[in-house]
Amino acid sequence: MPVIRQLPPSVVNKIAAGEVIERPASVVKELLENSLDAGATRVDVSVEQGGLELVRITDNGCGIPPEELPLAIASHATSKLVDADDLFRVRTLGFRGEALASIAEVSRFTLRSRVAAQPAGAELEVVAGKSSEIAPCGCSPGTTVEVRNLFFNTPVRRKFLRATQTEMGHITEILTRLALAHPKVHFSLRHNARQIFDLPPTDRLLDRIGCFFGRDLADDLIWLESCDDEVRLSGYVGHPNQNRPNARMQYLFLNGRSIRDRSLQHALGEAYRGLILTGRYPVSFLSFEMPPDLVDVNVHPTKLEVRFQDGGRLYSQLLGTLRTKFLKTDLTHKLDPAGAESDLTDPAAAHDAERASQLRNELVDWAKGQMTAWPADRASAFPSDAASAVASRQTQFDMPHPSAAKGPLELSSVLLRSVAAPPASGAATTTTYEAVAEDENRPASTEVRRVQTSAPALQIHNRYLIAESDEGVMVIDQHALHERILYEHFRAKTLAGAVESQALLVPEPVDLSGPEAAVVLEHQELLARLGLKVEPFGGDTVLISAYPAMMSASGPAELLHSLIEILLAGGRAPERRDLLDELLHMMSCKAAIKAGDRLTSEEIDALLEQRHLAQDTHHCPHGRPTALVFTREELDRQFKRI
Ligand code: ADP
Ligand code: MG
Repeated sequence: MPVIRQLPPSVVNKIAAGEVIERPASVVKELLENSLDAGATRVDVSVEQGGLELVRITDNGCGIPPEELPLAIASHATSKLVDADDLFRVRTLGFRGEALASIAEVSRFTLRSRVAAQPAGAELEVVAGKSSEIAPCGCSPGTTVEVRNLFFNTPVRRKFLRATQTEMGHITEILTRLALAHPKVHFSLRHNARQIFDLPPTDRLLDRIGCFFGRDLADDLIWLESCDDEVRLSGYVGHPNQNRPNARMQYLFLNGRSIRDRSLQHALGEAYRGLILTGRYPVSFLSFEMPPDLVDVNVHPTKLEVRFQDGGRLYSQLLGTLRTKFLKTDLTHKLDPAGAESDLTDPAAAHDAERASQLRNELVDWAKGQMTAWPADRASAFPSDAASAVASRQTQFDMPHPSAAKGPLELSSVLLRSVAAPPASGAATTTTYEAVAEDENRPASTEVRRVQTSAPALQIHNRYLIAESDEGVMVIDQHALHERILYEHFRAKTLAGAVESQALLVPEPVDLSGPEAAVVLEHQELLARLGLKVEPFGGDTVLISAYPAMMSASGPAELLHSLIEILLAGGRAPERRDLLDELLHMMSCKAAIKAGDRLTSEEIDALLEQRHLAQDTHHCPHGRPTALVFTREELDRQFKRI
């Protein structure tokens, strides 16, 4: 029979210590938080052997009067809470009153402190929870805590610690987070007498980001700010080309506390969807300020996670602020040869660097070889038969449209659709098209399609378009750009329930497997919204009666099979909108002109013109950039003019 016993206090305390103090970095975190709570403007951290030998933190905060030193190291003793209600309006980083007690339980601990009003300070030593008498000592105002031989009396915990470098990494991360949340505080960090950081106080978060992550990143950030009644959101997010293989560079702060929050990270991911490659993560330094009663900070042992009263509102605020900002921001992918090559350990960056240098060489070759022939003899790049072909294709597709929006986008997208291929056989009528009288009000199509760049654009290798921009030269990936434009167009149409659908003269039966037929019928409505009308036709056969007009390039059955593939893999995308998005991506990719398609000058013009009309044409829906910019300065440098 097992016997139930009351545990002795020393065991209780060790158990409690284990919850909060997992490794040296936990000590650093608790002590730094105490210094910040004490109003320190300068905090110096000194560490030996990854914190196992020593962690010493000195601050210039308010200090502790001598008579309170024993209380400071007693468990459940704090100056930060008075009653239970205070738990729901916590304005300090600490509040549980157990950090110092826990640390002192598992180390040789010294607490030295002086309040500014007194001429001298006092100190107290604790070894494995047993404290000495208080002794006076000379010291400057503020507090110094020294923690030696951490876990010396809990050998099992000590065994779990990693190499010095790993522990140092954790400590650095803790300091980074707190220093980013409090740029006005001077922080320094030494390891084995080597200075690792010395961060002067600053009013600008950007300076601090620059100190930690370098100027390059700091220069590539976008400022965000928004207020929603009680919640203020501010800070920086990375330009899409600043993306990382994991979410570690997503710094989120709440009332001066660094937090981890899946929902907010999800909002970030949503905002960057299509701007960065799948599987890559944006960078953020975002801070939320809100009244403390709107958040419960007492839900996680180290307070890393919090619970918001209205997480949904925060999610929408973040997503909305990001989306609005991105719509107003030029996200064109800028080439930085030095930067791109410096980060070769990162596979995506390596890919970019390779691609960048390849493009640069192509561009230089082209410029050297073609300069004389262009633009005077520009026609040579475009065979005349292709040029006349577009005219006839255009007539074929340039039909009136029922929607109220009669902007150039409509016209051009109709034109561009022709680039893909002639309609599949079996297509008969375009059901949503009707004659619309105001069509004459539209400007003549030649005017509409005039390019907005100052010089005509040129296609190279049947895959890239080169155009002059205000800054320099833009190299555009024709497939990626077209795909993006079609995606935006499709998406807008789908959301408005106005996808052009083409009825088939003879509905096409498609034999499927059982699960395929089931998933199709289950998503019948969704498919109809995309313009694909499918009905059951007995057994596992379905009948396609109409398909999206934009998809003329692929046959209806082929399109259905591709859609089924995504629907069956639907587990990856739990939300309905995600699924729709995936379907839209696939369809735009299929319908877009391909790398290798030779374009006529009119097609190039039409494509480039739409660049200015679609919401985000800087990246294709998979997140690859659609355009790279070579600044004039960079070209001058390449040609050794400067
Ligand atoms: P908590 O921070 O949750 O209150 P701690 O065990 O970390 O609990 O600290 C206990 C108390 O000791 C604090 O409430 C505070 O009054 C005092 N204290 C700890 N560190 C400092 C410091 N660096 N400067 C001033 N007072 C401190
Ligand atoms: Mg504390």
